[in-house]
Amino acid sequence: MASPADEPTPPEVVPEQVAGELSDLTPEELRNTIIYAQELLQFHDETASPVEPGPDEEILRATERDGYTEVVKRAACASGCEDCPHGPYLYHVKEESRPEGGTKVRWTFVGALSEAE
Ligand SMILES: [Zn+2]
Repeated sequence: MASPADEPTPPEVVPEQVAGELSDLTPEELRNTIIYAQELLQFHDETASPVEPGPDEEILRATERDGYTEVVKRAACASGCEDCPHGPYLYHVKEESRPEGGTKVRWTFVGALSEAE
């Protein structure tokens, strides 16, 4: 059994009621909830964030700001590193138009945050 101390803390942007209900779900219900959430995200396509975590990254928080997305993430480097994952780090993520057309996503490293933030 998982002890209460091992239970993950919900991000503060998740409404308390939702977090409380999520923590009571079975793994199967959770998996289906994720699928439903992804469908909802696609439905809200116009507000979709360009922020996708990489395989060794963990997005802690993504906040839409005026003209950019503020992202706090942890990242792992090489396997075997004792300090992994590193961070949390604060980035500003901007979608920029390219001269040749289309857009590209630019990540600007702002700085490291203390664990308390
Ligand atoms: Zn590392």
